[in-house]
Amino acid sequence: MPLHLYNTLTRNKEKFEPIHPPFVGMYVCGPTVYNDVHLGNCRTFISFDILYRYLKFLGYQVRYVRNITDAGHLEGDADTGEDKISKRAKLEKLEPMQIVQKYTVGFHQIMDLFNVLPPDIEPTATGHILEQQEMAKKILENGFAYEVNGTIYFDVEKFSKLYNYTALTGRKLEELYENTRELDGQDEKKGRLDFALWIKAKPEHLMQWNSPWGKGFPGWHIECSAMSTKYLGEEFDIHGGGMDLAPTHHTNEIAQNIAYCGKSPARIWMHTNMLTVNGQKMSKSLGNSILPKELFTGNHPLLSKGYSPNVVRFFMLQSHYRSTLDISEPALQAAEKALQRLLEAYEKINTITPSATEQTEVIEKIRLGCEQAMNDDLNTAVMLSHLFELSKMLNAASDGKVSLGKNSLQLAKKIFDDYLIQICGIRTNEQQSSKTNETISKLMEIILEIRREAKEQKNYALSDRLRNKLSAAGIQIKDHKDGTSWNIL
Ligand code: AMP
Ligand code: ZN
Repeated sequence: MPLHLYNTLTRNKEKFEPIHPPFVGMYVCGPTVYNDVHLGNCRTFISFDILYRYLKFLGYQVRYVRNITDAGHLEGDADTGEDKISKRAKLEKLEPMQIVQKYTVGFHQIMDLFNVLPPDIEPTATGHILEQQEMAKKILENGFAYEVNGTIYFDVEKFSKLYNYTALTGRKLEELYENTRELDGQDEKKGRLDFALWIKAKPEHLMQWNSPWGKGFPGWHIECSAMSTKYLGEEFDIHGGGMDLAPTHHTNEIAQNIAYCGKSPARIWMHTNMLTVNGQKMSKSLGNSILPKELFTGNHPLLSKGYSPNVVRFFMLQSHYRSTLDISEPALQAAEKALQRLLEAYEKINTITPSATEQTEVIEKIRLGCEQAMNDDLNTAVMLSHLFELSKMLNAASDGKVSLGKNSLQLAKKIFDDYLIQICGIRTNEQQSSKTNETISKLMEIILEIRREAKEQKNYALSDRLRNKLSAAGIQIKDHKDGTSWNIL
């Protein structure tokens, strides 16, 4: 069976056929960089990392675009209220772009720790204001939007006379109307489902740009339409994001693109399910979010110890991306043990003495199982169960209970290399320790910088204390004319 992916739009698993093989265009909604990403956000980005890796593994030439939302995302996801980034900037007494920089850097660090590959293009909303204005202009010209006092609204009622506005979720339009607040005298917009493409900025709004309609800023939905069209064209293969984005953000994106050029942007819409805590969606606003760093250090009331990014990533892959996943300490402990079992079996491959008897047919069946599981809408959970089967065989061979020949061992190694390392992006113990060394070097740079500053300020008490503490921890430092070197004793 070739690769099949579940398409939210058709509510079916469909055979994956790119529009222009061997090229694949894929767009995933990136983070709003106004605070630290929590583990729920990470689950979504890890899931799409698996898709990206797998498409590349299959030989496709992928252009993966994942944006950075650095303007326009308002509190409560509506089109009134404060911009999340501006609000944070006021709170931290920083320039909005400092907030953007701070949390973008933090996001990249976390993605790197999780071994999530960087996308091919990472466009920002603020870098594409013109494109968003052009799109809004065209939608206005095409008659699907209207201006009120410097704000441009998308006319959902007009759109839904010609097109199916709720195609993505399959919800009934009447229900949407019933569940949405009625307009009152305060509202400028004509229809209660109408949403803003461009929003007039109040003078105190920190991020605003000139436009044909006066000073304002873009709506959150138009940024993804503008950037996906710019980098992937009017029609591309895959659009993804968390399931919570489907009813509004993605529904509006589709409407905008159709109103702009008559085409629905992506053929396949993929949505990841939510990471939950005690059955409740992890979200900043519910106050139940766990930050990656809290998990790595164990510094969280739900945890008694820390778990490495490798274990957390593995924990997430043990469930299918369309199922909810509940995070708990026992589940993390189980994932830690399971991953160790797999990695130990993988390491044993080199130590097993090949015998004359081969088991290639049995192992080939396991490989096929992995391939079929991944082709079945990226079922990493089933794929990993095949790897456990393989690891049992390797353990038995290592104990002398099963004989494996050279070819069988080679094939086993290839399955682990392909599926666990390349596609799942799990780091081997060896890679882990080189990553740890890299981190120690970075830490030492930080400590030595603090020590240099202390010396410059003649704070010798602090500089000596740092030297003695490091020495007690087994790290010796030596001062030279042009700097300080260190080595582990
Ligand atoms: P945001 O930064 O809020 O725009 O969210 C970034 C991505 O994380 C979006 O695709 C969201 O759908 C996704 N997301 C938010 N909360 C969760 C969660 N609890 N589990 C999985 N994905 C989530
Ligand atoms: Zn988006």
